Amino acid sequence: MTKPVKTRFAPSPTGMLHIGGARTALFSKLYAKHTGGEYVVRIEDTDRERSTQAAVDAIKDGLNWLDLGPDNGQYVFQTSLVEKHTEAAHQMLKNGTAYKCFVAPEELDAMRKEAEERGEMPKYDGRHRDLTPEQIDDLEAKGVPFAVRIKLPLDGSTVWEDAVQGRIEIANTQLDDFVLLRSDGTPTYNLAVVVDDAEMDITHVIRGDDHINNTPKQIHIYEALGLDVPTFAHLPLIHGKDGKKLSKRTGSVDVMHYKDMGYLPASLNNYLMRLGWGMGDKEVISFNEAVEAFELTDVNKGASIFDFDKLDWLNGEYIKQMNNNDLFASVKPFFELDGTPLSEAAADRISKLMDALKPRARRLTDFVDVAQFCLFDGRPGLADAKAEEVLSAGMEHVNGLADALDMQDDWSEASLDGVVKTYIKESGAKFPAVGMPVRVALTGTTQAPSVGAILSALGKEESLKRLGHNIEMER
Ligand code: GLU
Repeated sequence: MTKPVKTRFAPSPTGMLHIGGARTALFSKLYAKHTGGEYVVRIEDTDRERSTQAAVDAIKDGLNWLDLGPDNGQYVFQTSLVEKHTEAAHQMLKNGTAYKCFVAPEELDAMRKEAEERGEMPKYDGRHRDLTPEQIDDLEAKGVPFAVRIKLPLDGSTVWEDAVQGRIEIANTQLDDFVLLRSDGTPTYNLAVVVDDAEMDITHVIRGDDHINNTPKQIHIYEALGLDVPTFAHLPLIHGKDGKKLSKRTGSVDVMHYKDMGYLPASLNNYLMRLGWGMGDKEVISFNEAVEAFELTDVNKGASIFDFDKLDWLNGEYIKQMNNNDLFASVKPFFELDGTPLSEAAADRISKLMDALKPRARRLTDFVDVAQFCLFDGRPGLADAKAEEVLSAGMEHVNGLADALDMQDDWSEASLDGVVKTYIKESGAKFPAVGMPVRVALTGTTQAPSVGAILSALGKEESLKRLGHNIEMER
């Protein structure tokens, strides 16, 4: 019987969750969901020196924000499995697939240097591979510290069918007898990851292709322990627009920074999906549609390019699709960044303006700019020289429209649009000659939504106040 699919995301808590990690988590979750399997998260915290609680928290925050936390809500910590790692190393010592290596660090350094001088990859030369039991007893009796190394075949090759990259074959001569347990008894990454993946019944190891070199090593450990080798799927790198490895400048920043920049988690997930996978030309893909269609074998082998313009466009599409209540809830915190809660009046105006603002925003932060005028009462200050110019040229129409509005009781956007239209018709002016100065009088800028929408959101009293009804504008 084939085992049910189980995938995992296994971040090391040495920093925040970055974009590449988030995509690995997403693909792991998508594949598990697609196959009706399970997705888990294991925090690989055995490197005590480099792991921090702050990084654990940051990774959890990032995953939670993107809804990529483990299916059962439980994070597994690698440190809780350490005994299993040691046990596995001892099992390998017993069955002859590993051995104790007493070579001193200085000797290893010298070995490394010599290899470098010859222009070769530094490799352990196997000098303690075949110590006799007496030699081992003798060294142990003297208290010489030892590491446990795997005993690899000296010829042949290691082959696997990578679900993304296809068949990969590595000559065993390229590998060396790498360390499983360090002389202080701590397990290395390769041992720990194999033991944990086996212990957790992981069937598909999905990770960045920076781990490809570890895979043959891990396959040898699986085999030495008599464990089933999982399917490996190595995802290609994400490059910046400059074609280089993603950097801070081109996009490799903390996932939570994307939240601060005003992206929606659903659109970021959608964008991450499209980095290496897709459904033909379809750009807007919901999580459920992706679950339905996702196959590891469809993931591209080549690197993908992270492009902020595309992400912005996609985010704008998600904003347009959102219902106004949810959207207002997402936008609200951006107005309150300084800790001051939105006033009731401001909140009311902004929620009323959602339909008018939606098509103009690509990030949630854009709302703050275009809805600034909702935050205060009374006449706005003018944003720039252009606004001043437009307003002084159009005062006649500002006053004229204010007169017409004064007589209006129905303050819905549609009837206000009607009043504006009628005024324009009757005054014989062109639309911009009225619309622009009125916009400036109401908002202080020329970059604002339609006049009807602004008037309706501000309400009659506030609108007339701003239009300086019956008062000569003193600016
Ligand atoms: N902890 C490793 C990392 O963060 C990943 C291990 C794996 O996916 O096998 O790079």
